[in-house]
Amino acid sequence: MGWEKEFGRNIISVDQLGELAGLTPAARKRLAAVTERHPMSITRYYASLIDWSDPSDPLRRMVVPDPGELDPSGVYDQSGERLNTRMQGLQHKYGRTVLLLTTNICTSFCRYCFRKRLVGLPSHEIMSRFEDALAYIREHGEVNNVLLSGGDPLALPTRMVRRFLEGLSSVGHLDFIRFGTKVPVTMPQRITEDAELLQSLREVSTKEKRVFVSTQFNHPRELTPAARRAITKLQRSGVVTNNQTVLLRGVNDDATVLADLQRSLTACGVIPYYVFQCRPVKRVKKLFQVPLLEGSGIVEGAKAMLDGYSKRFRYVMSHRDGKISLAGADDRYFYFRFHQARDPRNSGRFFRRRIDPAACWLDELESA
Ligand code: SF4
Repeated sequence: MGWEKEFGRNIISVDQLGELAGLTPAARKRLAAVTERHPMSITRYYASLIDWSDPSDPLRRMVVPDPGELDPSGVYDQSGERLNTRMQGLQHKYGRTVLLLTTNICTSFCRYCFRKRLVGLPSHEIMSRFEDALAYIREHGEVNNVLLSGGDPLALPTRMVRRFLEGLSSVGHLDFIRFGTKVPVTMPQRITEDAELLQSLREVSTKEKRVFVSTQFNHPRELTPAARRAITKLQRSGVVTNNQTVLLRGVNDDATVLADLQRSLTACGVIPYYVFQCRPVKRVKKLFQVPLLEGSGIVEGAKAMLDGYSKRFRYVMSHRDGKISLAGADDRYFYFRFHQARDPRNSGRFFRRRIDPAACWLDELESA
């Protein structure tokens, strides 16, 4: 069966989920109230990795709706993406990188998604004409890379991915092209069974512009033999693979789990790039955020178990003002540094904030 047909078999209704998870009518009703606001979609492959007898299974937690999502704390566009939007579906926050919102669809919908406001929902934020975005990129000679994001760009048909690759590889001043995707995690057969996709990636990445794929493995159990095969196929097509993990309550908020994940990724040739602090997004904040102090302890605990290659990641917040790494903490202060800054004058700047053990985001901390 082709991946598109497989995609059509996704678990999208509470009744389908109820059969798998053995949910009572009352539990189904509670979840239906959640999916009315934020739809559910789970690939059959990913569902097969879940231990349905365990209500706290970490993989289940990432894709199965939770009544806790009805809590309205937080804001949807937490990182101020609207402020960086230059045309529909095109964001330009940092000088050298343009980000394209290529789609509002993903192979599975993550309950903790920071773009929950648009995933699986009607949205005016998605790129409507790639040619217009391409013209913008051509006019901006300072841009050296483009990040194809969404939603998940690899959930789009291969002919569209090919069009992106062909268009972007023709821009002389681009050095490389990036895909942000969870497809290797949630539907590896979309990669392993699509020779045309791999050929398109190979043509560009080995001749024109290097292609980078940022995956998002959050738990070691996601690194199945099928996922490893997908990674290997990407790498053999000349693609450089790295990983961005989100630190999530009940999923990977444990130093041993986090260390195991980063070690296993490195063993597959996937570079551990970032561990992201989960953003205080509406309907996510209360369920998935880990306080910064606790997160820092988990990250440092994981690093203490890892070799130099496996701990190359930074623990970062993707904040409205830039990508801010939490370098460490002592008895009184957190120490932060701008890794990327929206205002170039902040680039590389160190600063500190007084510790609040309950704080989960920079804006919740008092100035030192
Ligand atoms: S795949 Fe990415 S964009 Fe899609 S729901 Fe998950 S985190 Fe959000």
